[in-house]
Amino acid sequence: MRNGPHDDAAEGEGLPLDLTGMLEPGIPSDPKRGIYVNRNLNMAKIAAVGFDMDYTVAPYDQPAMNELSVRATLEKLIRDRGYPEELRSVRLDPAFIIRGLAVDKEEGNIFKMDCHRHVGRCYHGYRPVPDQRRRELYGTKAIKFGSGERFAWIDTLFSLPEATMLAGIIEHWEGQGRRMPWTYRQLFDDIRASIDEAHRDNSMKREIVAHLPQFIERDPDLPPTLHKLRSAGKKLFLLTNSEFAYTQAVMSYLLDGALPRYRSWHQYFDAVVVSAAKPAFFTGDAPFQLLDADGHPVGQPKTLERGRVYAGGNVRDFERMAELTGDRILYVGDHIYGDILRSKKSSIWRTALIIQEMEEAIQLGAEHREALHRIQQLEDAVIKLDQEINYHLTLVKSLARLEVLTGPEAVVIESTREQARKKVERKRALLRQTLQELEALEGTTDAHFNPYWGRLFREENERSQFGGQVEDFADVYTSRVSNFLAYSPVQYFRAPRDVMPHERG
Ligand code: IMP
Ligand code: MG
Repeated sequence: MRNGPHDDAAEGEGLPLDLTGMLEPGIPSDPKRGIYVNRNLNMAKIAAVGFDMDYTVAPYDQPAMNELSVRATLEKLIRDRGYPEELRSVRLDPAFIIRGLAVDKEEGNIFKMDCHRHVGRCYHGYRPVPDQRRRELYGTKAIKFGSGERFAWIDTLFSLPEATMLAGIIEHWEGQGRRMPWTYRQLFDDIRASIDEAHRDNSMKREIVAHLPQFIERDPDLPPTLHKLRSAGKKLFLLTNSEFAYTQAVMSYLLDGALPRYRSWHQYFDAVVVSAAKPAFFTGDAPFQLLDADGHPVGQPKTLERGRVYAGGNVRDFERMAELTGDRILYVGDHIYGDILRSKKSSIWRTALIIQEMEEAIQLGAEHREALHRIQQLEDAVIKLDQEINYHLTLVKSLARLEVLTGPEAVVIESTREQARKKVERKRALLRQTLQELEALEGTTDAHFNPYWGRLFREENERSQFGGQVEDFADVYTSRVSNFLAYSPVQYFRAPRDVMPHERG
């Protein structure tokens, strides 16, 4: 990444090296603003930090985004795809959808999986699918995602409204005992296509740009965070799927004039890539296009210069032109698939995942700490009781095999067997009681997090699929970009020691 021809754009580059940040201990007092570590990340080794824009440097107000997406989608369904006006009276429950759920397009069901892809809670409309039906549908075959597949994965906050609408519309029709005039797949595909259009044809973005403060939160800690990283000698880049004009509008709103030395948002970044088409950016070989000041392509670049904006491109050309190797790049994004999983699988970029929902999750976790602790104790007790029951059952069986013996030994054997049998009965009663308490406590506690789905990162006594993906692919994760401000720019983020089940004491 080189200095560009425009002095103006390179102004931020002239700042003196500011090392004060390195002297700070780097421990935020508020756990909601913490950076959590899955894999060791030594920031001293990171030469460049890249940022996704939407939901990463630009945090959206989720209720406002849901409302806008639903409105734009309904308009398209009714006006362009022949859906009835009645759709406007459908009651949508915004609490119904959280990140990490899956949609079964064939059956119209929405479910949450654990990290082993076992299907847990499952709803049809707003009604739970009975356990037996759930097992019939999802208990025997692997759940696969991808275009053309039966299952769709709700893995960005942009995609919450499509699942909300599917469930609401099904509930509206079937809750009144009517059959919907469309198949579930047709309905979902039409909703998906309409939301997709609403993103592409500018209908949503026009409204967002006209009312930016309603949709995007301007975080006062963001500009100093970027400055701190730059001052420690890191190159910063923006890599977004949003197109030129929208990126320009959002980034100006977030950063222009926020700090005295940076008149324009461009001055924070050594390279800006728009319309990046992630995840294809990480897997394909699309060329970079240099854009002019109006966002028109003016040829293919040989280098990346500060103050210039590029479109498209691919990871290999990026690393070559930026003169960086993947292990020295930290990419910060919000999309588990497009930003984190893909960049991890196709390159070796280090990754930081932004999970906007974490602040609420941590807050609720603190409020219900005692109940969560008790749940953990009960889960441990269940495992122990299961083991003890198994042991005593085995004992009963082995003693039964010795029945042939007669005399005093037989009496001892019989009495030991009787004792073991009694132990099994007592432990079974205790297990039933423990499971009852666990189920009741889990039900009431989970309802505080989300009445339908419980905790974002858990499903039953496992990590949720989303939680598992976070653990597998994000080196670190946190609620917002500006959480880096509390840490030193050369922080050694250390993962808790990873212990396998057989190593636990
Ligand atoms: P990023 O998070 O900065 O990479 O950009 C996300 C971009 O993807 C935004 O411009 C969104 O409007 C856009 N986007 C999100 N969902 C969809 C979709 O379903 N279809 C098309 N574009 C989308
Ligand atoms: Mg994003």
